[in-house]
Amino acid sequence: MSSPKKIIQDLTKEELGELIKPSFRAKQIYHWIYHKYADSFATMKNLPKEMREKLELEYTVAPLKQVMVQNSKDGSRKYLYELHDKHTVEAVLLLMRDKEYHKDGSVKHQERYTVCISSQVGCKVGCAFCLTAKGGFMRNLTAGEIVEQVRLIKKDNDIAANRRVNLVYMGMGEPLDNLPEVAKSVKIFADEEGMAIATHRQTISTSGLSSKIEKLGKMELGINLAISLHAVDDELRQQLMPINKAYNIASIITAVKNFPVNDRKRVMFEYLVIKDINDDLSAAKKLLSLLDGIKAKVNLIYFNPYGGTEFKRPSTEDMKKFQEYLTTHGLHCTIRESKGLDISAACGQLREQELEGEV
Ligand code: SAH
Ligand code: SF4
Repeated sequence: MSSPKKIIQDLTKEELGELIKPSFRAKQIYHWIYHKYADSFATMKNLPKEMREKLELEYTVAPLKQVMVQNSKDGSRKYLYELHDKHTVEAVLLLMRDKEYHKDGSVKHQERYTVCISSQVGCKVGCAFCLTAKGGFMRNLTAGEIVEQVRLIKKDNDIAANRRVNLVYMGMGEPLDNLPEVAKSVKIFADEEGMAIATHRQTISTSGLSSKIEKLGKMELGINLAISLHAVDDELRQQLMPINKAYNIASIITAVKNFPVNDRKRVMFEYLVIKDINDDLSAAKKLLSLLDGIKAKVNLIYFNPYGGTEFKRPSTEDMKKFQEYLTTHGLHCTIRESKGLDISAACGQLREQELEGEV
């Protein structure tokens, strides 16, 4: 088999500028890719023909192939993409309605777009509740394969290049287990000549690799941090998330305390609520003391069941009680809307269905 073409989206604008002279060509190519959503070099008409042909020989602009899309009643859309080696990853477009105001003060509603992206094929962390983990780990995605998920979603949904979107690294994989490529993708997303998604609009979610959290902090990227905590004592957390053996709760808290947080932001602690496992108020109480002294907010997530799991979704009432306990004690706490629940938007679920031939 001939080796696959290199992925043009893997290159930062500076790298592209080194490769192609004069360097203003890099800007033009970025515009074609990220503003006009070009998917071949042939369409890049303001580049010299020989340059287009040379690029075409070595590089691809279309490293991902859409193999499936599922629409949710709430407008969210979940995509399955195939990579050059036939592995597949998921990305989800989440729609939220935002209030905005006309000049005369009247309210207009606007969609707010959030794209949830994958950073690896599978995951090594092996959380007991996670479907992505069940398939094991295949490989890291390259920066370009991460970037391409967002470009394709914007293109498919006619989202103008300058429309604001938020990014969450909450799809398949553990972003901090692929830190170099993830950090590179953050910078490519943020490039003003590209998608211009400011780093404060990007959130990296991690299962808590403390040493990598410290490393990420030192990079000063300006991204938001989300920690998948899910349990307040090491014993239960270890059962749910084996990574806790290597990085316990105390080490995560220390790493978070050292993390540079934007003045107007908070570190998000995600807490996946599983019925009869971690949904009692004593856990809420412990959570409060754990997060004492941290600029934190808590996001409660309903466990999203799938075939073959013994875990159960908590009741709405228990979720509300848990939330109320935290908020009355002064901790910011939201319950994640089950966006796209009807298309099983929790990570790994679409791919799993396809592998089992259900869709
Ligand atoms: N690996 C990273 C990011 C991807 S997982 C992390 O763990 O943070 C993104 C989120 O999906 C995590 O908070 C994870 O706990 C959650 N998740 C996994 N399986 C889920 C399920 N069945 N229902 C609801 N959320 C789930
Ligand atoms: Fe990996 Fe996150 Fe799933 Fe845990 S929840 S197995 S870290 S993708």
